[in-house]
Amino acid sequence: MNASYMTGRRPIRKKLPIWLILTAGVLMGLAAFSFIQLRPAMTRSAAIMSWIRNPQQYSQWSIAALEHCGNAPFLFPTDGLVGYLWDDSFHPGHRDQGIDIFSGTKPGITPVYAAYDGYLSREPDWKSSLIIRVPDDPLMPGRQIWLYYTHLADPDGNSFIPINSSPGTYEKPVKAGDLLGCQGNYSADSANPVGVHLHFSIVKDDGNGGYLNELEIQNTLDPSAYLGLELNSHVASSQPPVCAGTE
Ligand SMILES: [Zn+2]
Repeated sequence: MNASYMTGRRPIRKKLPIWLILTAGVLMGLAAFSFIQLRPAMTRSAAIMSWIRNPQQYSQWSIAALEHCGNAPFLFPTDGLVGYLWDDSFHPGHRDQGIDIFSGTKPGITPVYAAYDGYLSREPDWKSSLIIRVPDDPLMPGRQIWLYYTHLADPDGNSFIPINSSPGTYEKPVKAGDLLGCQGNYSADSANPVGVHLHFSIVKDDGNGGYLNELEIQNTLDPSAYLGLELNSHVASSQPPVCAGTE
């Protein structure tokens, strides 16, 4: 016997409207998707913060400038910790077009070197960037690629790139290991500089002797194999990537 029998009324069962259930489902799906996408970068951010606070304590995470990892064709272009890898996502919709190597030093101190032979150019308005044309991709002979280096300036845009490679330089021959400048924290917004690092990416050729927009991930290649890093850009790991084959 229950109250409804007593009153002759049926218990009121409130049903959730279908639109509410669907919306909640979609939102939960999106949240899960974002979490999976963002998780590798989130775990890597924790390692970067530990590194920046105390590089000595985590010296095993660092890769030395000019090191050759395994049989990789490129030299490692600077000293530091590989903080983020290609295709890491810092916020929903974002995908990193290169790798980010953090020195743990102040801006303008840690040298950046050419990873491979090529021809250096800088557009007239580039404060912190340079690009090096590599006519023959060592991992896919016959195709031309471009190596893009950026953040080589202080927050006000004072460049750490030597004067002999000033903006407006085109097709200057460079050899692997040549000094290109120093790591900086330029972000185009002097009030919000980035952490001191080198952003290094491999940009595809446009087929007409130029390079495609380096800010679009589909115009770039994963540099891991060129540098001999483990291909783990989608793995959430608290350990930064090291040279492939070493632990
Ligand atoms: Zn980056």
